[in-house]
Amino acid sequence: MNIMFRSTRGSKNYVTASQAIVKGIAEDGGLYVPENIPHIDFPLEEITKWSYKELAYNVLKLILTDYTGDELKYCIDSAYDEKFDTELIAPLASVGDNNFLELFHGRTIAFKDMALSILPYLLKTAAVKNGVKENIVILTATSGDTGKAALEGFADVEGTQIIVFFPEDGVSDVQKAQMVTQQGENTCVVGIRGNFDDAQTAVKKIFTDNELKAELKEKGYVFSSANSINIGRLAPQIVYYFYAYAQMVKAGRLSMGDKINFTVPTGNFGNILAGYYAGKMGLPVNRLICASNDNKVLYDFFRTGKYDINREFTVTVSPSMDILISSNLERLLYHLSNSDRTKTVMSELSSKGSYEFGIEDEFTGEYATIPETFKAIHDLFAETGYVMDTHTAVAKASYDKYLAETKDNTPNVIVSTASPYKFAKDVLKAIDGKYDNVDAFKALEVLSEVSGTEIPSPIKGIDKREVLHKTVIDRDALREFVKNKLN
Ligand SMILES: *Cc1c(COP(=O)(O)O)cnc(C)c1O
Repeated sequence: MNIMFRSTRGSKNYVTASQAIVKGIAEDGGLYVPENIPHIDFPLEEITKWSYKELAYNVLKLILTDYTGDELKYCIDSAYDEKFDTELIAPLASVGDNNFLELFHGRTIAFKDMALSILPYLLKTAAVKNGVKENIVILTATSGDTGKAALEGFADVEGTQIIVFFPEDGVSDVQKAQMVTQQGENTCVVGIRGNFDDAQTAVKKIFTDNELKAELKEKGYVFSSANSINIGRLAPQIVYYFYAYAQMVKAGRLSMGDKINFTVPTGNFGNILAGYYAGKMGLPVNRLICASNDNKVLYDFFRTGKYDINREFTVTVSPSMDILISSNLERLLYHLSNSDRTKTVMSELSSKGSYEFGIEDEFTGEYATIPETFKAIHDLFAETGYVMDTHTAVAKASYDKYLAETKDNTPNVIVSTASPYKFAKDVLKAIDGKYDNVDAFKALEVLSEVSGTEIPSPIKGIDKREVLHKTVIDRDALREFVKNKLN
């Protein structure tokens, strides 16, 4: 079946998957969604026999239907190779009663690698298929992890340029060091005085700025996005929900065909939405537990039906989830209603910062405060020696609350989104208060000693690398910056 994509906000313009990937965002400011979500065309039992790559192929070919089999195989083979430190790509770690799907074995040690190691290939292939002659400029707003993963993915990819905006004071020291030391002729990294929402909103605005787009088109540039607003980010994320299920069955923690829960540490709602798509495609998903930190807009939304960003923005120890405007929620709203309704609530969100939308489905909102997050890291390490990063710990603490509340004993997988080394300073502090004053880079060594694990090679000696990107700008200066940069 051929799947076409349309905007969540209603324009009747249908595009192919490859066109949606090149464009990144629809012209009306909406996000591309599949007109219908395809169902798997293989018996579910098959997934236990497949490697990650085989599974990726069998899932992606159902969604990205205008790519040929050879094109998809090329993209998948190029993405999921030695860049990952395990052949499993996304191993399941069963620790006591918990199951962690470890999505941090790629080059930037966070889950963004799962999609951003394939997106550049999907995009390059899409550009050729659609006769795009212009240079593709990837504009990316990051809460810390997307930026680095996108930079690694696109560095020195011919025909592309990448500009990354990150909140100057809103990312961890390791995250910042990873980005500002990025090599590659076509890379550009810029700090902004503002938070992630400021960066994301400004970038989205540029995508729909027809004047700027026309001007740059003349100079030979078109924009695209590496954020999870790009359907090319979302589709590859569906794969690992099937993969987690297969590993749970193989580990004897689940019977084939039975239902499963996933608990997902959530920011922009991309990761968990991929789990929702996996369920619609035929994976037996019972509940999706959406875990938030103190910026618990989504928790309140799933509990009350009101999405409201009129609140204090809190900087937490899980910075990649410090988000009030979760872009991909728009896709869920579309699937649960229609484009007219979605358009209305999105305009309410931008005019008054809130909207109401009754939700009855498989999502449950939970959240964890900073002390709860620290306690989760501390306790699990004390009991088992397993170290979670701060984001995964938000999910673990949230799942424990869910369990206490519901007594739902459906087998559960906690989606683990980053290596503890990426947030070593806070992780150590959680393990033992005596590490409170350890410097962020020294913390890597200390964590290695304390946990008996090795510092992942991508961040070994990161503080000694040369800083190549030093620009910092005001949050309302993004447009000017992009314009001047490409002139
Ligand atoms: C991006 C990120 C998240 C949030 O994922 P979304 O898809 O934005 O919901 C959670 N944890 C880590 C470590 C991340 O990098």
